[in-house]
Amino acid sequence: MSKADLTALAAQLEEYLGDPHDAGSRMSFTRVLDHDEHEEYPYAFVSQLRRWGVHEYSLPAEQGGRAGNVETGFNLMRLVGRRDATTATALVITNLSFMPLWIAGSDEQKRSAVEDMKRGGGLSWGLSERDHGSDLLANEMVAEKTDGGYLLTGEKWLIGNATVADTMVVFARTGKRNGPAAYSIFIVDKRQIPAITAEELPVEKLHGLRALDLSGLRLKGAFVPDSARVGAEGQGLEIALKSTQLARTVISSLAMSAVDTGLRLTLDFTEGRVLLGTAVSDVPYSRRQLTEAFADLMVADAVSLGAVRSLQAAPEQLSVWSSVVKYLLPTLLEKTMSQLNMVLGARFFLRDHPHYGPYQKMLRDLLVANIADGNTVVNLRNLGQQLDGLLASAGEAAPAVREAAAERAATLFGMDRELPVYEPWKQELFSRGQDDAMLAAPDGLSRLRALAEEAKGTERDRLLRAADEAEELLDRVGPLTDRAAELKAELGREYAQSAELFELSKEYCLLHATAACVLTYVHSHGVLDDPLPSGALLLLQIERLRRHLYPHESVTDPSVIDEVMRVLRHLHRENRLFSHWQFPLAERVADLTAARL
Ligand SMILES: Cc1cc2nc3c(=O)[nH]c(=O)nc-3n(C[C@H](O)[C@H](O)[C@H](O)COP(=O)(O)OP(=O)(O)OC[C@H]3O[C@@H](n4cnc5c(N)ncnc54)[C@H](O)[C@@H]3O)c2cc1C
Repeated sequence: MSKADLTALAAQLEEYLGDPHDAGSRMSFTRVLDHDEHEEYPYAFVSQLRRWGVHEYSLPAEQGGRAGNVETGFNLMRLVGRRDATTATALVITNLSFMPLWIAGSDEQKRSAVEDMKRGGGLSWGLSERDHGSDLLANEMVAEKTDGGYLLTGEKWLIGNATVADTMVVFARTGKRNGPAAYSIFIVDKRQIPAITAEELPVEKLHGLRALDLSGLRLKGAFVPDSARVGAEGQGLEIALKSTQLARTVISSLAMSAVDTGLRLTLDFTEGRVLLGTAVSDVPYSRRQLTEAFADLMVADAVSLGAVRSLQAAPEQLSVWSSVVKYLLPTLLEKTMSQLNMVLGARFFLRDHPHYGPYQKMLRDLLVANIADGNTVVNLRNLGQQLDGLLASAGEAAPAVREAAAERAATLFGMDRELPVYEPWKQELFSRGQDDAMLAAPDGLSRLRALAEEAKGTERDRLLRAADEAEELLDRVGPLTDRAAELKAELGREYAQSAELFELSKEYCLLHATAACVLTYVHSHGVLDDPLPSGALLLLQIERLRRHLYPHESVTDPSVIDEVMRVLRHLHRENRLFSHWQFPLAERVADLTAARL
């Protein structure tokens, strides 16, 4: 979908949902907070979003959905999430639960599930078990072969939508011997099995997403026919891991939406609040904090742009892109939100404030992005396992390999570039050292320098400075490779499990993010709407990444901050999503009297 079409679609959804500060709108903060306070599943929100058809953009067109591009559904969900992460999660879980079918299901299985979902049916994804968490190969739910089908016995716990959805897609053991080929996937339609064989577990009380149905399902000899098996017997782990790749890539949108609302609310406050004769936005320290939060969000936006597009443009590399995004975005944005707390001040703590009440909910809800679908640690471990190959190719790839990566990077980071249709079965579990962001980084830097040469005055200086600082960061590939080699020599077989390897993986993520910021700039600058592109913003993005390594050093001066503040104020006043996409948000019809209280 072109940028113009996606923007028009996003605008339609925004208009449909209305100004969240308007109590009469379809998805007002007042009602969202009410659901949260009373821990009531948001049936009404989910239903009206289904009526609009939002979930269809994440279902394959070939079987009756409207998805070709994952990017469309991902961005629509950001708009839902900026109002309520619980509703967004409930919808996302249904779509993610469909992934095993999309990857390995038969045409009939896909068609029937899509039809069911279009009629309002929900899905849940039963992977986790109470005693085994991330250790999937220890899972105990068993599927015993019987005439014409399987008998399922065991328990799935901490499953989103487990009670409200009629159908759960489960991961169960079919093999007698332990190992990766011991598991298979089944569709369990609770309406089709004897009630006595299935018992829903109590809905858990949660810290964030309080209105979510997070429960579980206990099965005791539940019969499912052979036609309910997804893919071949023994293929379950592969399907589950590939499904998880998409989940990891899209779930970070919840954290971005939370910070978008957090920043928007904070600006509502700082633009109107006068302290000692100055708007808080204009107090130099506050202004810096606000612009830094904005730059963090734009780093996240650039990283997720490439990651979401990699689902289609580089599916064989998804094990890297999905883990980078799943580790980096939630951890980065949690810090961003903490920083914003101190700008908004005491009101961030108030659950019932008529304007700032949603802030504390966003603060709680965003934490889910770190936990669900493979926690931070699991993703760092996944990167650690591939790190040697990734560093080797980032440092020493042949020119032809880099050229091919640079060509793909133009699609990965070019917002207006057509994407190939999503074919999830092309995803790979290991990327064999390939990470196009890192491989294309040198090309990105030379393009950035060329753009700087075409620019004038301070913009030229800022772009050149951004290129220099980004290059210095990216040059850390060499020392990082040396440290990895030394560690390996020192620790031998312990290397793969060492805490130090996790730290190296974290640093790799920072380098990938640096490349993503540069590549987004060079491949999308021509299609960005005013006031973007901005050399000042790019420089501040690089500074924010650099701060993880040099916490107290700045590469920006006050004039850069002033310029980024101009960009931020423009997006706030024009009511646009804080993103390279800048989707127009629903018109703000509620007056801001409550924001002054
Ligand atoms: C809101 C929410 C929604 C969820 N929805 C679903 C759902 O729809 N379907 C579903 O199947 N599950 C769901 N889950 C469950 C969740 O995805 C799993 O519980 C989680 O991925 C497993 O992690 P755990 O936190 O239970 O940690 P465990 O795997 O038990 O690990 C505990 C701790 O050990 C450490 N650790 C784990 N693995 C490693 C490692 N390899 N190396 C080093 N340290 C490690 C980490 O610090 C980790 O936090 C949901 C959970 C939440 C909170």
